[in-house]
Amino acid sequence: MRTKIEATWIVGHTRGQHTLLRDAELVFEGNRIVHVGKGFEGRVDRVIDAWGKLVAPGFIDTHVHSGHRASHRLITDTGRPMYYGQPFLEISVPKEGKVVKGDPRYLKHGDAGSAAAFELNAAFTVAELIRNGVTTFIEYGSQLSVQDALLAEVVRLGSRAYLAPGYDCGRWVADESGRLKRVRNDALGREGLKTALAWIEKNDGAADGRVRGILVPREVETSSRELLQDTVRAADELKMPMATHAAYSVIEFYEVVKEHMKTPIELLDELGMLRPTLNIGHGNFISDNPNLNYSVHRDLELMGRAGASVSHCPINIVRRARTLDHWQHYRDAGVNLCLGSDTYPRDMIMNMRTASYLGKVMGHTYFAATSADVFHAATLGGAISVGRDDLGRLEAGACADIIVVDLSGRNTLRYGPVRDPVKSIVECGVGDDVDTVIVDGKVVMEGGVIPGVDFAKLRAQAQTAAEQIWDTLADWDPLGRNHEQACPWSYPIAE
Ligand SMILES: [Zn+2]
Repeated sequence: MRTKIEATWIVGHTRGQHTLLRDAELVFEGNRIVHVGKGFEGRVDRVIDAWGKLVAPGFIDTHVHSGHRASHRLITDTGRPMYYGQPFLEISVPKEGKVVKGDPRYLKHGDAGSAAAFELNAAFTVAELIRNGVTTFIEYGSQLSVQDALLAEVVRLGSRAYLAPGYDCGRWVADESGRLKRVRNDALGREGLKTALAWIEKNDGAADGRVRGILVPREVETSSRELLQDTVRAADELKMPMATHAAYSVIEFYEVVKEHMKTPIELLDELGMLRPTLNIGHGNFISDNPNLNYSVHRDLELMGRAGASVSHCPINIVRRARTLDHWQHYRDAGVNLCLGSDTYPRDMIMNMRTASYLGKVMGHTYFAATSADVFHAATLGGAISVGRDDLGRLEAGACADIIVVDLSGRNTLRYGPVRDPVKSIVECGVGDDVDTVIVDGKVVMEGGVIPGVDFAKLRAQAQTAAEQIWDTLADWDPLGRNHEQACPWSYPIAE
């Protein structure tokens, strides 16, 4: 079947870069784009009307943690200073001997969990991503049952994903006084990698090729040197992309320096891991960052020389009073910048805007972190991070992963007059403006509706699950706090 989309604006792609086409058309046949331009004369079976709209490559979210992120709601405007703003320590480090309640991502390897919770988390995640125009996402190392549930939803809803269980050599817990303590278990890491490889062998290429594997040693400081070496060996052998949290936390940076006498980036460099298909989340605490007061500044050069990918999650980290320091330096060094949501909402347009504005502030120039730059990161940057030249772009031969964005802001005045559609969505858009989503040549959302997804029902289920997570915080919180103590209401609740 051949489909033509007639649009007021199209982000096309010629000779390695995005271009703008006005009053043009895009034609795809099966799962491939066959034409982007004007005056297509061939026969078509179906026409999609996108007048007043922008046709663009689907976004690639390079940093997704499955779930509705209920626990993240407990750290808005607050947290424990001893974690230096590292969000996952706030919401996933339990008192020793306890487990984080309600979030199946934090079950240990092999623990049984509630099937309904896995299913809800997966359905919420995949549906939210599609709703926001994300056609490809990378899950960042949740355990096996989470990946199985995501795979089922990706098959059902028609999305594209890089999945596989993550692994590590133990995690952080809190001792009886609430102090951070590392539980190390190298055998767990070896077993975890085996589990990941078996999962990849079974599922790489599933869903008509929309599901691909990725190797995710979760965090550099909770992975042994051997585990990282085994990872890069497997990546070379299987031609797989990799992802890991590295240079993302003050504590992690100094832990790695203490253990290896190298920065996290120097360690990855020594092990031969730095490359475009290594997705580094978040790569903001590098030796060049003046806030670390480290005396050798080589990390940016090492990452840039290798063209390594940095998954920048601007909304998540700015809420923790941090950002990339800074966008233009990373870009000039040769780092492949990508964008990820990491937290809620999974809105890539909001992430582009946040990255752009903070990039300008940190670079002290409005020439930095342009709309073109952040749009590139949200599309082509993500594609490079997984070694794909057929994603993130609309040109003949590329995968038909396409979004249609309503430049009327779904009948509001938010956009005002539109001159440049890419600048307009970066400045005025929200994820909800995505009207239609096509993945692999199939329409998976039309007019904001995803067949098989009831938003009201998902919201209600997520609310119920979230209330349980908030209500049981005191059971595992390192300081035994309930949610009102850990995260006071914005204003006192009036009697
Ligand atoms: Zn993460």
